[in-house]
Amino acid sequence: MGYYASWVLARSPGRLLVDLPEVRTLFGSRWSRLDDRGDGWHLAVVAPNPHEWSKVGGGIERLVAATGAPVLAAWVSESSCARLVGATPSGLSWSRHLLAYQGMKRGKCGYDHSRFATLRLPEGERPDAADTRTLVKDLLAWSAEAGFTTSRDAIAHVLRSTELDGHDRIDKLVDALGVPYAAEVPMLFEHQELDWWTPWEQGHRAAYRACGRWTTGDDDADPERPWDADHLAFVDLVAASVFGTGASRTELVEHAKRLEEQWAADIAASRPRV
Ligand SMILES: [Zn+2]
Repeated sequence: MGYYASWVLARSPGRLLVDLPEVRTLFGSRWSRLDDRGDGWHLAVVAPNPHEWSKVGGGIERLVAATGAPVLAAWVSESSCARLVGATPSGLSWSRHLLAYQGMKRGKCGYDHSRFATLRLPEGERPDAADTRTLVKDLLAWSAEAGFTTSRDAIAHVLRSTELDGHDRIDKLVDALGVPYAAEVPMLFEHQELDWWTPWEQGHRAAYRACGRWTTGDDDADPERPWDADHLAFVDLVAASVFGTGASRTELVEHAKRLEEQWAADIAASRPRV
């Protein structure tokens, strides 16, 4: 199935899109890419950290309201499909399920869009049940309201392609909508780095425990450990800092050291003796 992520195109002048709380709430904060597309527009590629799954998936209308501009987003499975949604301040709103490598052909994908997806569907709803039948027209209207210049042919060319996986198709579609490219915003470091390996790893384990409790609905299945909240906060802090607007590398290293000093003995004592 390849890798999964959300693509989010929205306007956030004077502030990085990744710093908008609505983006983190709706899509998570495991960033893998951020483009500056000029005039305040940004394109982010992001997946939820495991502990964020219970909170993401609220739709894009809140982001339209927060930014006062059109928003385009897609939940993408690399080799399976993309669920593309658009909304604008004037009230335009639509969605379309696109199969990878299939052009405009419609059909089932086998992916569960009601659970591990950020553009989440109600349980039992098929991903194509509420699809727009006029995708090219809707994308043209979306682009016009956003102030971009494109053409029916440019959009149709990408949508008809049978050469593109789920991610590449959304990437090319953003270009086809007439969204200019300004620069990639560099990530100053990876989420998981050797400099803070152990505390981040503990945070990731805590995140999987939280995800397991959400998945099973059973808080006793893998209960929260006393150190989980501190380590989850560290994972969140790293995520809020990779594009340079949160803590510095030095501050993260110091924070990681403090966490190790505070919790290493408790974590070691909790391990079963062999
Ligand atoms: Zn699908």
